[in-house]
Amino acid sequence: MESVRTDFYLDGGWVPADGRQSLEVHNPSTEEVIGTVPAGTADDVDRAVAAARAAFEGWAATDPVDRAAHLDRLHAELTARADDIARTVATELGTPLKVATRVQAGLPLTVLRSYVDLAAHPPAPQTVGNSLVVHEPVGVVGAITPWNYPLHQIVAKLAPALAAGCTLVLKPSELTPLTAYLLFDAIHAAGLPPGVVNLVTGTGPIVGEALAGHPDVDLVSFTGSTATGRRIAHLAADRIARVALELGGKSANVILDDADLTAAIKVGVGNAMLNSGQTCTAWTRMLVHRDRYDEALDLAAKAVAGYRLGDPFDPATRLGPLVSAAQRDRVREHIARGLADGGRLVAGGPDAPVPSRGWFVAPTIIADVDPDSALAQEEVFGPVLAVIPVDDDDHAVRVANNSRYGLAGAVWSTDEERAVQVARRLRTGAVDINGAPFNPLAPFGGYKQSGLGRELGTHGLAEFCELKAIQR
Ligand code: NAD
Repeated sequence: MESVRTDFYLDGGWVPADGRQSLEVHNPSTEEVIGTVPAGTADDVDRAVAAARAAFEGWAATDPVDRAAHLDRLHAELTARADDIARTVATELGTPLKVATRVQAGLPLTVLRSYVDLAAHPPAPQTVGNSLVVHEPVGVVGAITPWNYPLHQIVAKLAPALAAGCTLVLKPSELTPLTAYLLFDAIHAAGLPPGVVNLVTGTGPIVGEALAGHPDVDLVSFTGSTATGRRIAHLAADRIARVALELGGKSANVILDDADLTAAIKVGVGNAMLNSGQTCTAWTRMLVHRDRYDEALDLAAKAVAGYRLGDPFDPATRLGPLVSAAQRDRVREHIARGLADGGRLVAGGPDAPVPSRGWFVAPTIIADVDPDSALAQEEVFGPVLAVIPVDDDDHAVRVANNSRYGLAGAVWSTDEERAVQVARRLRTGAVDINGAPFNPLAPFGGYKQSGLGRELGTHGLAEFCELKAIQR
């Protein structure tokens, strides 16, 4: 499959990116080039922002029910392309097709559906004393997204932005731009008004910086690494633009002594390895009570032994490759450092067999990890689980909170009240108890260096609104 895209999406149409250089897209399972997209410039960003600005007033004034109808049509167009989306993500990112269908294509559809409903029922004006408090759209949004959940990360910004009455310019990750093109095919087919959403592909340092630093962008909504988030916040600070940042994580999975260990380990290992560990919310530190520690390691090793690496299109494959050779090399370095720092290899590791072609790393479990060491502190973004013994609930909370991140986490105990007590003490944006299901309406975002602001549900909608007080 070779996909050559030569256009940007500006002001309601495909516009040839004449004379621009192009960027190659790779299949990480085969290392082959599978497509190209144009490398945008600051001028392209200017045109896109101008289109979004011109469309803003009209879109902001559109009846919320009509905005909801537009999002509903987009939902239908995306649903019609769900198989193509899953296959494209499996090809340009390497997510096994089954997971790509359920998560990479399915999750954004769920999120978009939730905003069809929320768009039709915007927050009602509130009377506070002699004031009428109203929500208004923040304006033109610059959205910059990563490669790990290429469609979901875009929809989690685009759907609430449009529902709120904002217009948007997207710069997707240069590693997975083909999925973004499928979204814009759907946007075009859905007939969204010109300028409401615009696409410029390119690199972070050129297109990303131009968008984050653009004087006419009111809100920069970014998902990606903490290092890039910091840079974006600096660029936005000069003009006091709003920023929403969804950044990295090093989430703790706290397994208490009374936990259902079989479930805790099965789900915990699955969570850490999902998408080859390239998940910002991954529970990458497993904290296990000492009384159950050896049993837990045994179960964890058995769990990963069943994870077959390989071609994402082979139904037997459980884990695909990492997104790039650079990412594969970084993960290998993290594993080597974790072992050099005193970690004990329980499964996988540098010598475990991997397919000869493709950027694979075997699922790896390292036990006895020092909570202060690099492996416990740094985001690996690969299939690597660090296991740490803890003495009691207080110790577990201390180790879990010993992180500059605070994005997600989990607690396992047969005593739900005890689990909630521990969950309340974790300095993190979300905690799942005993493998509770994902809730697309719950606020999603980070404490500490995991970010600023919240996505999803009504909290996600509020990110794209200003508040105005009208006194009478
Ligand atoms: P990244 O920060 O390298 O890139 C993210 C996006 O920013 C890409 O589109 C990239 O082109 C762009 N970018 C890079 N440099 C830029 C610059 N100087 N100015 C403007 N834009 C720039 O991150 P990544 O490698 O694509 O994604 C992995 C990271 O994303 C991980 O750290 C992960 O934890 C994080 N992440 C966070 C969440 C969350 O919701 N909190 C979700 C997924 C991923």
